Amino acid sequence: MTTSIPATLIPGDGIGPEIVDATLAALDALKAPFTWDTQIAGLGGVKASGDPLPKATLDSIRTTRLALKGPLETPSGGGYRSSNVRLREEFQLYANLRPARTIIPGGRFDNIDLMIVRENLEGLYIGHEHYVRIDGDPHAVGMATGINTRQGCRRVLEYAFDTAIATGRKKVTLVHKANIMKVLTGLFLETGEQLYAEKYKGKFELDSIIVDACAMKLVLNPWQFDMLVTTNLFGDILSDLVAGLVGGLGMAPGANIGTDAAIFEAVHGSAPDIAGKGIANPTALLLAAAMMLDHTKMPELATRLRTAIDQTLNIDNVRTGDLGGTANTAAFTKALVSRI
Ligand code: NAD
Repeated sequence: MTTSIPATLIPGDGIGPEIVDATLAALDALKAPFTWDTQIAGLGGVKASGDPLPKATLDSIRTTRLALKGPLETPSGGGYRSSNVRLREEFQLYANLRPARTIIPGGRFDNIDLMIVRENLEGLYIGHEHYVRIDGDPHAVGMATGINTRQGCRRVLEYAFDTAIATGRKKVTLVHKANIMKVLTGLFLETGEQLYAEKYKGKFELDSIIVDACAMKLVLNPWQFDMLVTTNLFGDILSDLVAGLVGGLGMAPGANIGTDAAIFEAVHGSAPDIAGKGIANPTALLLAAAMMLDHTKMPELATRLRTAIDQTLNIDNVRTGDLGGTANTAAFTKALVSRI
């Protein structure tokens, strides 16, 4: 009998509770030994206590060091700072893994199996931004500062390179914009090339590409890539692009890995346009749960979950609306559970 593994559960905002319920049903069917401590954050936190990241939620993750999280709403422009970004900072979740794998064949792009590793704490995401007032216009100029450190680059690159070896990736591509942002992203490129020469030469092929060319090549011929490693903002954008190659945001999971904790989530947001309608596709969060099972050394359960997802989508042809199907979340979940 496997011992119980304490984990924090954050249902999140919008479609979060709907896809979290579906994921819990699948994990229960698998008899995954997680004991959940349910906590709030995001808009739910603001509504309950005025705090988008309550202390109880942070304390819970501090104890469990493991969380499954629904999407959290963040206001654009003004308002509170993203709870997702704060969670990454709080637990030093420096590596964001975003795999993209074709599950439904016959689309525009078949046989995609790509991994994006995104630096998750530095770059232009650090939120050092301000306006400059000129001639009475308080928003005459907007300014942002990006910071990359050699140490920050090195730890995510090391994690990516080790993961490439552990998962049998043949090629790693460093994605940058060192022709224009010579310092900020040049440091990332330089650190990656140095690290490779120092410790990893011959274990896989290393190359590099400028982010704009990478975006074009991903659309024209994504099969030329295997693992992409990049800085925060580029990783955010490219991983949505890559999600589009495999059926959209409803199919894209993410893992945030750090020194102090690991948090698993869907790449997509709270989808306010479909929230409460019971039609959300839970696959991305289910795939994130499979990553969580791998992380907690239960690869057999992870494989069973991934296989059940494949079978539900491709053999039973039970699909949600975003994939052109007619199933609602409950019908998809029922079909999935019967495959487990
Ligand atoms: P979104 O990802 O929520 O939605 C984009 C589009 O994709 C919408 O049309 C939506 O209906 C659709 N979609 C997303 N997930 C789906 C699913 N599982 N099934 C079916 N359709 C799905 O992006 P947005 O609308 O730009 O953001 C909404 C909110 O989510 C914002 O407040 C944003 O800050 C937040 N957000 C949170 C996270 C996170 O918690 N990790 C990530 C991204 C965005």
